[in-house]
Amino acid sequence: MIIPYDEFCRRADTVRAGIAAACVRAGRKPDEVGLLAVTKNHPPAAAEYAARYGLPAVGENRVQEGVDKRAATTAEVRWELIGHLQSNKAKLAATHFDRIQTVDSEKLLRLLDRAAAEAGKILPVLLQINAGHDPAKFGADLADAPRLLDAALTQSHLKVEGFMTIAPLSDDTSVATRTFTTLRELRDQLAGETGALLPELSMGMSGDYVEAIAAGSTQVRIGTALYGEREPVA
Ligand SMILES: *Cc1c(COP(=O)(O)O)cnc(C)c1O
Repeated sequence: MIIPYDEFCRRADTVRAGIAAACVRAGRKPDEVGLLAVTKNHPPAAAEYAARYGLPAVGENRVQEGVDKRAATTAEVRWELIGHLQSNKAKLAATHFDRIQTVDSEKLLRLLDRAAAEAGKILPVLLQINAGHDPAKFGADLADAPRLLDAALTQSHLKVEGFMTIAPLSDDTSVATRTFTTLRELRDQLAGETGALLPELSMGMSGDYVEAIAAGSTQVRIGTALYGEREPVA
């Protein structure tokens, strides 16, 4: 089941207005923040809605679901992996996704680099950092980020575009703010040390994108606010 397209449009207009308002409050330009439509648990039509509305990319959190969905639609969007990536799926993910946001180990870096080389492509990636020290979240520890970045920058078939994080679930918005600010500061520090640009900061979801934009997010990943509540996929 999926909501009708006109309802999607109303929701997308609302989200875009929310992003623009958050940008204005933060003294930033609305076009500095991209909107990734999170289509997980929704049918292929969700990607078609995003494309028709003019959104450039969709996010999936499971490799196989994303691969199958992509094969089922001709929607002209980029497909990004935003869920945890297991080693045994690295090759499949490298082949079928346009960017992988969840790289959190040197082992994954090596596997993705090799798979990208075999596929004859340069694969854009983000490094996922557990900036909120959340035991329930994947992502590299903050302390390991410099070494992970150094390793990432030496891979000839990966393009490191920045970082991604997920804030811990909390009723206290200052937790999200602290998490996102930590990631931005890490990026600023490591960009300074390595000379790499690292422009992308993928942070913020339906419930915390305003805090993320205030802290410097360049891409918010929005599912529920665009498509409504997800039904579990069997
Ligand atoms: C599901 C998911 C989102 C979107 O969450 P909503 O709260 O539905 O907007 C964003 N990022 C990741 C990593 C997700 O798994």
